[in-house]
Amino acid sequence: MGNFGLCPVCDTPLKESKSKTCSIACRVKRTYLAAISVTEKPCAACKRVLPAEKFARVKNGILNCYCRDCQTVLARRKAEKRGKRQSNYKRRPTAMDPIKSRARHLFQTAVRNGTIKRQPCERCGEKKTDGHHEDYLKPLSVVWLCRKHHRMAHRKPVDTPLAKLDAVDGSGT
Ligand SMILES: [Zn+2]
Ligand SMILES: [Zn+2]
Ligand SMILES: [Zn+2]
Ligand SMILES: [Zn+2]
Repeated sequence: MGNFGLCPVCDTPLKESKSKTCSIACRVKRTYLAAISVTEKPCAACKRVLPAEKFARVKNGILNCYCRDCQTVLARRKAEKRGKRQSNYKRRPTAMDPIKSRARHLFQTAVRNGTIKRQPCERCGEKKTDGHHEDYLKPLSVVWLCRKHHRMAHRKPVDTPLAKLDAVDGSGT
């Protein structure tokens, strides 16, 4: 029996040349130790090299192949394909926020009596639009956005090139 070296995890002499660890338990531990020693890696979607904390850990400490931001964007795309409305764009009752509901009320009144004229979407020109408030303290100052771009305006920003791709596509709608 030749000398095949020691198990890198527990220093037990190895019995076969092809095995890198002495047991399955040590192999799992070795994978884990290797995974947690990774400090940065490229994201499979946006190709940026990012620190480990930008990735979720899947089983055994291994970092997900997509960064968290890309994961968010990919999950959104999936949800949109399924035709589901994003959870952060649910129509919630507005009574909870008096400033918001006051702004909406003043704005809707101004549209009804013609003080404010509906404009096409600022980003894509779509005629069916909503007034989006960037500042609820300025009830009559809105950005006109179609449903799609309005939804995007309410999303919390995610920092990945994929999100920018999503923001410019579909300019025909
Ligand atoms: Zn071992
Ligand atoms: Zn990414
Ligand atoms: Zn639009
Ligand atoms: Zn809005």
